[in-house]
Amino acid sequence: MSHPLDDADPLAALRERFVGTDSSLVYLDGNSLGRPLTVTVERMRDFVGTEWGSRLIRGWDETWFDLPLSLGDEIGRVCLGAAPGQVAVGDSTTVLLYKLIRAAVAARPGRTEIVIDGDNFPTDRYLVMGIAEECGLTVRWLDVDISAGATVEQVAEVVGEQTALVELSHVAYRSSWIADVPAITQVAHDAGALVLWDLCHSVGAVPTRLDEWDVDLAAGCTYKYLNGGPGSPAFCYVADQHLETFTQPIQGWMGNTDPFLMGPDYVPVVGIRRFLSGTPAVVGMLGIRDMVALIDEAGMDAVRKKSEQLTAYAVELADERLAPFGVALASPRDPDRRGGHVTLHHPRMREVVAALWQRDVLPDYRGPGGLRIGLSPLSTSYDELERGIAAVRETMAALA
Ligand SMILES: *Cc1c(COP(=O)(O)O)cnc(C)c1O
Repeated sequence: MSHPLDDADPLAALRERFVGTDSSLVYLDGNSLGRPLTVTVERMRDFVGTEWGSRLIRGWDETWFDLPLSLGDEIGRVCLGAAPGQVAVGDSTTVLLYKLIRAAVAARPGRTEIVIDGDNFPTDRYLVMGIAEECGLTVRWLDVDISAGATVEQVAEVVGEQTALVELSHVAYRSSWIADVPAITQVAHDAGALVLWDLCHSVGAVPTRLDEWDVDLAAGCTYKYLNGGPGSPAFCYVADQHLETFTQPIQGWMGNTDPFLMGPDYVPVVGIRRFLSGTPAVVGMLGIRDMVALIDEAGMDAVRKKSEQLTAYAVELADERLAPFGVALASPRDPDRRGGHVTLHHPRMREVVAALWQRDVLPDYRGPGGLRIGLSPLSTSYDELERGIAAVRETMAALA
């Protein structure tokens, strides 16, 4: 299955390192759950047999206790543009976002509003609504175009001396819109507010420069473009200047100054560890480590470049082969504003996706009428993408 774009792709050979890429199955949902790496299969077997099976409790002192921070540093260095000591791995994205939103609100006493867009991922919206109720605050909703996302102008219009926090996604899960993180962060800071960026749909596909952009807080998941596997733990970033003063509400022993002192009081340790609460999910971190190492080998900028080329090819094929069936692009046309996936709209997409799954072509569906094509840069080939679009076309033709 040779394709001229694969032949010209300097990263093409890396696809073979993922489980299952030698089959004819078309996987276009790497933005929901990345494929496993074959090296992870070995690592997991080895972990159970050796590290867990024979090092036993000693494993905590040897590597496991430090893993949330050492792996956090690696994610920070390779993917986020974050200097060491600001990223920790632990909990789910939802729980980490909760901790960070509460930390931000507590750090801006007297301010009464949280800004978020109405099309943000459900968990982000539910958390903000719940915390607003819990803390007596008001949610300022941005009304965004669902084929695009939050703009600098929209944020500038609502922030002011009442704003405690602006919470947005770097890449919109529905449309793939890339928000202008540095400009929005600047606008929020000018109003005295903090920013929290959700990186779930960007980390591993679209690079950030969190330190340089002066971001306060960020979090993201690791089972999408970081291929950590179902339920692998999330990461959070807290900028250095906040690590002495910001506190989070889930006060557990793992965030205490000396967890093994087992003392009477919670005194949060100075540093990113204070954002941890309980025993870290060591097994869930194994796959992340392998994928971050692979991204490091390829180079994050090269990964982004391939991602841009994959989404451009998806848009080109959709225009040429699917537009005649009434399929419309529901993602930005401007490649600089488009993340790692492409959403195509048609009123009958739900049926189309169900039919595709029957034939081992796996994109996903997001209502209303959206077929999401997730292009995991290192595991997706141009040939796979083209076969996927051909299957969508055949399915649409059969419906008509
Ligand atoms: C996938 C995703 C989440 C997932 O949160 P979990 O707690 O891992 O379920 C949150 N936010 C965004 C923007 C996402 O894309």
